[in-house]
Formats: sequence, structure tokens, C-alpha cells
Amino acid sequence: MALSRSLKVAVIGAGVSGLNTSRELQREGHQVVVFEKSNRLGGTWVYDSRVEADPLGLDANREIVHSSLYKSLRTNLPRPIMGFSDYPFTMSENGDSRNFPGHEEVLKFLERFAMDFGLSELIRFNTKVVRVERVDSWNIDKWVVESRTSGVSLEEVFEAVVVCNGRYTEPKVAKFPGIEKWPGKQVHSHNYRHPEPFCDQVVVIIGSGPSAYDISREIATVAKEVHLSSRSPDVKASKLDNHNKMWQHSKIDYVNEDGMVAFQDGVCVHADTILHCTGYKLHFPFLNTNEIVSIEDNRVGPLYKHVFPPRLAPRLSFVGLPQKTIIFLMLELQSKWIAQVLSGKVLLPSQEQMLADIQEYYKHMEECGIPKHHTHTLNPTEFSYLDWLAAQIGMPPPEEGLKEMYKHTLKCLILNNDNYRDE
Ligand code: FAD
Repeated sequence: MALSRSLKVAVIGAGVSGLNTSRELQREGHQVVVFEKSNRLGGTWVYDSRVEADPLGLDANREIVHSSLYKSLRTNLPRPIMGFSDYPFTMSENGDSRNFPGHEEVLKFLERFAMDFGLSELIRFNTKVVRVERVDSWNIDKWVVESRTSGVSLEEVFEAVVVCNGRYTEPKVAKFPGIEKWPGKQVHSHNYRHPEPFCDQVVVIIGSGPSAYDISREIATVAKEVHLSSRSPDVKASKLDNHNKMWQHSKIDYVNEDGMVAFQDGVCVHADTILHCTGYKLHFPFLNTNEIVSIEDNRVGPLYKHVFPPRLAPRLSFVGLPQKTIIFLMLELQSKWIAQVLSGKVLLPSQEQMLADIQEYYKHMEECGIPKHHTHTLNPTEFSYLDWLAAQIGMPPPEEGLKEMYKHTLKCLILNNDNYRDE
């Protein structure tokens, strides 16, 4: 029988990842401290009406608003695939009964989850982690975590650190010729809350993910024109079905000083605003691993199965990096895996084997022509990853029904089915 050990573990962040991680670590008998910079749990799901002073979110010294939710946001996955394996996402008291509920309902669910498993007691609120570093000694199993609460710094030593700080806060923006002199306004979707600022404007929206989809339709209710720009190679300039103010286009070719935006499909428009729904940069400003772990073109690496850096495993791990899957379930499975590896119940392969596995994955990406910035995008392996994680911890693979529901939702989004949430 495998040896079971109990470690003192620091968890950074109390969003869905941090909550699951702390639950699983506690279940495995570890001592857990969760650091949360804000005054409540829920991370992304805590709507914040504030926007940042720099609407593109590029100024490194700006005051950061964590959540990128917009006011009207409803989930983009249905309720049955936003619960956990033993804790379904049921309706809250007098709550939102819709299958794709509003964001408030998700937050209530997470608060219930935290309460039912006594997780709040593990969280140090208003406590920001500013430095995580391996202790410089022969004993490599110690980590210093420096945190700040109301301006007061504290340094503590932990035996393991799990990074759960979220992946949707640091905007990534599109680049194209002429933008330095283009006179219009630019905003990133991180700083979009409601459509009013775009009243009567001509708005160009870059992106084709769920945020671009929702925001474009919402802005079209008040704007003069909305032009969607996608980098997908098959997009031809055309008006969107059932939308008399919306057009779709290829990538932006260049923009001009006179306000013109020229698309690669040959169409030009004079726009007031460019809204970048272009995703986020992975960002760990507190983490110093002496470059054992690095971020290059949004690839955090080397990481075994997106979680463990082989040279620092298992004492440093990451939850929540992969995207395009059944997110809540993935976060739960990753957390369980980490907790059981830390307790010694589940063993990792050797450092060499993990590095070889990573190299194999990178090679496969290269051969398939998948760009580096998609390292943590699971599609089309979103289900095999979940099955693999489940197998590590002796759980059955996620039910086929859940996978079918996910595939169906994705198909509706791809087919631009505007009513997919209510059908
Ligand atoms: P987060 O929720 O971002 O939590 C990270 C936490 O870490 C935060 O509380 C933050 O304050 C804290 N933190 C960060 N840095 C520090 C620090 N230095 N010190 C201390 N604390 C720190 N997923 C779905 O499944 N369904 C959806 O419908 C869906 N819609 C989405 C819509 C939008 C607009 C976005 C941006 C994401 C959406 N997602 C959706 C994905 C969503 O991010 C995940 O569901 C989930 O919230 C990720 O949780 P997390 O804990 O990894 O990160």
C-alpha cells in the first residue's frame, strides 16, 4: 500500500480551481491555506462593475480588476455540465431556474459549495500573494510564499504550492498595421460591462469565441453597425442571418489615420471603436522558479499534462490552464489528482518520463501545425484528457451524456444559433 503523507500546502486563489483544490487537499489530510486577494470567493464569477483605467488592459501599473464578466452574462455551458461529480449545480433558493443561468446563480452555487465543505475557513481573504519561490537550500521541498494583507507583508514556508490564480484577467490584443495612428477607441472585452457606451457607433469586434458572440449581439441592439472580424480562413464578407446591423469579415488588414478599418476580404468601414475579444495571457507575476517554468507565447512549460513541472513536481502544480472542455469537471479532476499525488496515493512517472511525454506532445503539435499559443487548448482532445485524469485517480471516465451535451452546445455556437440557450 502506498505511503500517505500530509503536507502544508499553499493554494493561490479562491475561484473554482482554488475551491476544488482546497476541498480535495483537505480530504486527503493536508493542511491548507488559501490565499485570496479579494474579499470574497468565486474568482471570475464575482461580477465587478468597475473597469480598468486602461481599456485595453496593457498598462502593467494599472489597478487590476480580476473578473471579465459582463453584466448580462449567462453561462455558455448548460447547468448539468457545470456541477461537480458528487455536487450537482442545482438551483439556488428563489434562484435562476434557466438551463444556462446568469452569472449570479453560478456564484451562489460556489458559495454553497464552499459552505457545505467548510472551505471559507481555509481562506485568507484580502491577502495577495506577491512572491512564490523555492527555498534556496539543499532541501528542495520547501517554498516561501510572501503575501500582503492591508500593506503588511508576511513570509511563510510551505511544503507545496498549487497555483489557481485564473487565466482570464490579463488581456491579449490583436495587432495590425496602422493601429498606432488610428484615432478611434479601443477596448478589450475584459473591460466590457454593458452596451451603452457603444450607442449609435460603428463597432468592429475582433474574435470568434463565446465573448465575441454574446457581446456583438448585445452591442448590435444599440450600435449603428457591428462588424465581426475573425481569423478563421473560411469567413467571407457577409451580412449575418437575422441581424440587419451585423456583418462578418475576415481578419483586419490595416487601419488608417482617418478612422478606416480595412478587412482582408476587401471591405472597408469607418469605425468608432475596435473591441478586442481576443483572449488572455497566462500570467503568474508572483512566481519565481529561476526559469524552470517559463511562459512563451502563452505556453506555460514544461508542464506534464498541463499540471506538473517535472523538475519541481509534485511540490508545484497548476490548476485551470487548459481550456475548451467541460471546465468545472476538469478543475475537479486536476485538483483530485494533485491532492492524491501530494499524499503519495498516486505516483507520477519519473522526471525523465514526464519530460519525454511533454516533448512528444510538443512534437505532435508541431507536426499537426498547431501554433504554440494553443498548447493549453484541448479541443479536439477535450474528452480524452478528462478520461485520462479520471483514470489517474481511479474514477470512471465522465459519462457519455455529459460529453454529448458539451458537443451539442459547441455545435450550436458554431452554427450561430442565437437562441441556443433557451431552446
Ligand atoms: P478564477 O475564477 O479567475 O479565480 C482565480 C482567483 O485567484 C480569483 O479569486 C483571484 O482574485 C485570485 N488571485 C489571483 N491572483 C492572486 C494572488 N496573487 N494572490 C491571491 N489571490 C489571487 N466556464 C464555464 O464552465 N462556463 C461558463 O459559462 C464560463 N463562462 C465564462 C465567461 C467569461 C467571460 C470568462 C472570462 C470565463 C468563463 N468561464 C466559463 C471560464 C471560467 O474562468 C471558469 O469557469 C472558472 O471560473 C475558472 O476558475 P479559476 O479558479 O481557475 O480562476
